[in-house]
Amino acid sequence: MSFEELGLGPDLLKAIGDCGYTDPTPIQAQAIPSILMTRDVVGLAQTGTGKTASFILPMIEMLHGGRAKARMPRSLILEPTRELAAQVAVNFDTYGKYHKMTKALLVGGESMGEQMKLLERGVDVLIATPGRLLDLFGRGSILLNDIKILVIDEADRMLDMGFIPDIDKIVSFVPPMRQTLLFSATMPPEIKKLSDKFLSNPKNVSVAPPASPAENVDQSLIWTNSKEKRRVLDGVIRQEDVKNAFVFCNRKREVDELARWLKTQKYSVAPMHGDMPQSLRTKTLQDFKDGAIKLLVCSDVAARGLDVQAVSHVFNYDVPMNPDDYIHRIGRTGRAGLKGRAWSIATPGDDTKYVANIERLINKAIPVKTLGGSEKSPPAVEKNTPDAEKPVQNRKEEQKGKGRERYKKPVQPAEQAVKTNNNGERSQGHRKSESENMSGFGEDVPFFFKEK
Ligand code: AMP
Repeated sequence: MSFEELGLGPDLLKAIGDCGYTDPTPIQAQAIPSILMTRDVVGLAQTGTGKTASFILPMIEMLHGGRAKARMPRSLILEPTRELAAQVAVNFDTYGKYHKMTKALLVGGESMGEQMKLLERGVDVLIATPGRLLDLFGRGSILLNDIKILVIDEADRMLDMGFIPDIDKIVSFVPPMRQTLLFSATMPPEIKKLSDKFLSNPKNVSVAPPASPAENVDQSLIWTNSKEKRRVLDGVIRQEDVKNAFVFCNRKREVDELARWLKTQKYSVAPMHGDMPQSLRTKTLQDFKDGAIKLLVCSDVAARGLDVQAVSHVFNYDVPMNPDDYIHRIGRTGRAGLKGRAWSIATPGDDTKYVANIERLINKAIPVKTLGGSEKSPPAVEKNTPDAEKPVQNRKEEQKGKGRERYKKPVQPAEQAVKTNNNGERSQGHRKSESENMSGFGEDVPFFFKEK
């Protein structure tokens, strides 16, 4: 199917052409015709599938004839984070460049006065995070009773972030006679309930099973002990052809600490998490996009859904506790048809369980590697090797009749994973010199990482 066949007008087709898109993505091909027919739509799609255009394009098509009234926007797009909202706003400007439509971006951390002024002038499309929207609504700066199209984007993330009561409240202010579009990467029961409550007879479109990680991402796992994690990360970065990368941590404090440490190792790096002022988050993201920063150390919330093209690597400095987060994280690379690589650094203990959960969700074992890139295949049951180094299949068989035993027994640190290369050449004794040798760079950081 071509864009021309979707029912979009010539100005949109021109803007799409300017973007260089030749064909609609599957979510666009499925969703756009139904949205143009004013149907409610539930879209099960991850970021990276072109889902933003799948709701922005028909929204522009349907609203462009009308006129914006003061404080009465005609459509509302709800996003869980400021960055996502900002990204959607950029998409709106890109696709709407040949239309005279207006938008307001209502996110926390930005001046409320400016946002109020914009609303006063009248906007067609509101792109907002729930908190700031409710704030402005409470002050009487917005009326939501002219909303014709409501988009709830990244609904599962809204759930994770505790925004469902806010969404409930917002929807109660929007007229019942409206079109509602809900997008989510996964469909947990709470989101299904939300969709049943807010949407009427929706068309369901789904473009990728929620648990299928990006096919273009080559995944690897490396076991170590917690004291060695930084050294292992450093080693992996040095051995890989890293152009730029997201480095994920589970806690905000760790984000700051790791970014500081990587800086001492002369990497071009910056932290990004939800406690940073919005202006700094925006600048950091822009620097990363521009290539002024090569490594972005971040938390899940800050990086969720960020669309940065051509990210070569994702490093999970911490294995995510929630297996869905693993899929979202590694989906930051391998976008737009490019190949990506994802490395996860795991330590025996809780990670054994988290890795098992991830492997269950993605339905395959993540290849276990050692520094030096060699694959442990077939995985040897070495002395000191945790169960988790065995592939899913082996573990399943061993578990038969054991119940949850595996998780209870104390596991030895996977020292081998860091200390031996493929030829088993490293001994446990000479850690410092090993770390110097293993990268092949000695103390030097590759030139593409040097700070400018
Ligand atoms: P999204 O899933 O909305 O985050 O989109 C991911 C990326 O796909 C964005 O960078 C879009 O610019 C890009 N994109 C959207 N639609 C298309 C298309 N039809 N062809 C090629 N790229 C697209």
